[in-house]
Amino acid sequence: MSKERLEKIRSNFESWKVDGILITNLTNVRWASGFTGSSGMLAITADNAYLGTDFRYWEQAASQAPDYELVKMGRTAEFVHIDGLVKMLGVGRVGFEASDMTVAAFGDLRKKCKDDESLTLFPLNSRIEPLRHTKTESELEMIRKAAVITDAAMAAVNNLAKPGMTERALAWELEKHMRENGADGLAFDIIVAAGPNGAMAHHHPSDTQLKEGDTIIVDMGAMLDGYHSDLTRTFFLGNTPDETFKIVYDLVHTAQKNALNNMKAGMKGQEIDAFAREVIADAGHGDKFGHSLGHGVGLNIHEGPSLSSIYDQDIPSGSVVSVEPGVYLPGWGGVRIEDLVVVTPNGPEFLSNCPKTPIIPV
Ligand code: ZN
Ligand code: ZN
Repeated sequence: MSKERLEKIRSNFESWKVDGILITNLTNVRWASGFTGSSGMLAITADNAYLGTDFRYWEQAASQAPDYELVKMGRTAEFVHIDGLVKMLGVGRVGFEASDMTVAAFGDLRKKCKDDESLTLFPLNSRIEPLRHTKTESELEMIRKAAVITDAAMAAVNNLAKPGMTERALAWELEKHMRENGADGLAFDIIVAAGPNGAMAHHHPSDTQLKEGDTIIVDMGAMLDGYHSDLTRTFFLGNTPDETFKIVYDLVHTAQKNALNNMKAGMKGQEIDAFAREVIADAGHGDKFGHSLGHGVGLNIHEGPSLSSIYDQDIPSGSVVSVEPGVYLPGWGGVRIEDLVVVTPNGPEFLSNCPKTPIIPV
């Protein structure tokens, strides 16, 4: 797999106007090489591919990234440092990941490379990330499994949530559920937002107790082998939902369905965003939907491509994105409904299959 990805990177050198590249973003390192350590970098030219890492990971690097030649790095003089790795490439123009390297690290590297006049360090802005947008079948398989684990935990909310339980306690039950069903960890901190807390799109679970009549937003995902999933459902705790819940829930659900029914690979992110946004705006709540419709999901929980009003690029076939409109009313709460899909030329293929059963009788 990493051989194919290596070739994919190399095939872009000409358009990126580089002879080689230094990859320091750890997620990109993982994607390009298979190496999962917490410290390491790749240096690639048309002919060579190096993976530099420190003592802790030498054995792991050799087994996870056989297509890369291991370079033993360390802080002391006997080991290779970052400038040494760059010089090993022996080429003129080396691209580096400007969105990853700190200003301080770049200043230091440039100073140390000064003696090599033929070497130019050339900033590249997020060039590896778009190569990750289209998922391979094995990546989809991993995300699918993570989504199944997430679906099962979400389906348990209808039985778990009770008046008097705190947001924090419900979040913990859901975390346990996902871990016990095979998740390596959480894709992100679980969001449980009851009543007015739901008006804050990313509320952190607190000691607030759930009570009858509350709207409850639950947003969570499992992580499996580095891949993430993402799912939101909104519930009503009580036998008869109030008028506001019925209206807002139906509006958000209709907006989501409009996006899901019309989206296809090859459309621009902003076109897909508009399918949901227009429904909410037409109902007079445009200013209460302040985030984008969705984001890519993969080795990062938030990655490209984006379904947002400012994303004017095409969504490629095989992208995994969330579709998550929301309406947030300060003082009352919020409703968000989120599903994870693979974008295909024929429309979305659902990765999330959790039912939408908002009413939790008490
Ligand atoms: Zn989410
Ligand atoms: Zn999301």
